[in-house]
Amino acid sequence: MDRLLLLLPTRTYRTEAFLDAARTLRVEIVCASERPNVLEERAPDTLLTLDFADPDGAAALVTEFHRTRPIRAVVGVDDLTATVAAAIAARLGLRGNPVSAASAARNKREMRERLAGAGVPIPRFAVVGLDEVPAVVARRTAYPCVLKPLALSASRGVIRADSVREFIAAFRRIAAILKEAGSSGEAARFLLVEVFVPGAEVALEGLLVGGFLHTLALFDKPDPLDGPFFEETIYVTPSRLAGDVQARIAAVTANACRALGLAEGPIHAELRVSGDGPCVLEVAARSIGGLCSRALRFGTGMSLEELILRHALDWELDSLERERRPAGVMMIPIPRAGKLEAVHGKEAAEAVPGIEEVALTAHLGQELQPLPEGWQYLGFIFARADTPEAVEGALRAAHARLAFEIS
Ligand code: ADP
Ligand code: CA
Repeated sequence: MDRLLLLLPTRTYRTEAFLDAARTLRVEIVCASERPNVLEERAPDTLLTLDFADPDGAAALVTEFHRTRPIRAVVGVDDLTATVAAAIAARLGLRGNPVSAASAARNKREMRERLAGAGVPIPRFAVVGLDEVPAVVARRTAYPCVLKPLALSASRGVIRADSVREFIAAFRRIAAILKEAGSSGEAARFLLVEVFVPGAEVALEGLLVGGFLHTLALFDKPDPLDGPFFEETIYVTPSRLAGDVQARIAAVTANACRALGLAEGPIHAELRVSGDGPCVLEVAARSIGGLCSRALRFGTGMSLEELILRHALDWELDSLERERRPAGVMMIPIPRAGKLEAVHGKEAAEAVPGIEEVALTAHLGQELQPLPEGWQYLGFIFARADTPEAVEGALRAAHARLAFEIS
């Protein structure tokens, strides 16, 4: 049986989907996480503790493990573990991305610099030190702009500013978020300031195979994302953009992957389509976050995670074709801070035609924190229907039937 190493960050929604895929494929899974698992002593063949902040150290430990229990593939499930997976793959000669590519995709400054260097369209940007005087930087900035951390995700700490006053407030707020998030190194000392790019936003879910980018799905994000915070909400595929625009999005994303040096495995790219064409906001060397992958099925019902594991193992990929039926997901945003006391209307929401599932991930009693400080969702709504419009309508109707009591 082939053995695959899965790198699981402490906070992730992705574990179950990957473990299900491994079960379907009948591969042996070794799970690595950062906190020593109480079961590790009893199951030394299937559980490992690694320090994800130290990719080289992690690779050394896995090399040791590999001597007696050979590993055929390694998969990281988020931005951080993707860099560790790259280090392990390089050390063991497994399929993966170059370490420098995975780490460039994780650091917004490096990503911007590499993309700009290769002529890939990106927003005009500046790197600002947190030790600079915000009022001074604010006065030399063009508006509207977006301030963001170098290495957080899920729109955490991403804030639009339309004026000097808003810039200063956003600057201070991000500094506090970085402290709270325990950021270190460069990510704790700088932030990125970018021109705000107006226009429709899309997400491209792709799989790189030998440097070639296969588009698995292109999602429209039909809710306006104009800030000041950028809550991810509705994703619908296939995209309703014109075919030639979609082709340009795929081409620009492929160029971005090449510029970063990414060559193998999943990518999740976000772009804005403005008057000048597609503009890359980011390319992450991982698959879509949260439970969102449940909206995708390939070939004869294969999950995204199965595709990812098959590719990592260098197994045959029968089909990278998404099912024909339009599908979508809504990440249910947290409307305000407080304690979740009750949720009403789940059954009514699930009764909306087209709705397949309402998965509530926040638990009762949980302390909720909205953006820009928070990073979680209340849950996820999934829909399939005959048209993208109907998918979007079903998601909105289901969300309207849910009521969250927050004290
Ligand atoms: P994260 O890695 O936290 O997701 P992103 O850079 O992807 O950070 O930004 C999150 C969201 O903020 C984007 O999906 C987009 O809606 C918005 N955003 C970020 N940068 C810009 C920009 N320069 N112009 C317009 N919107 C932006
Ligand atoms: Ca993003």
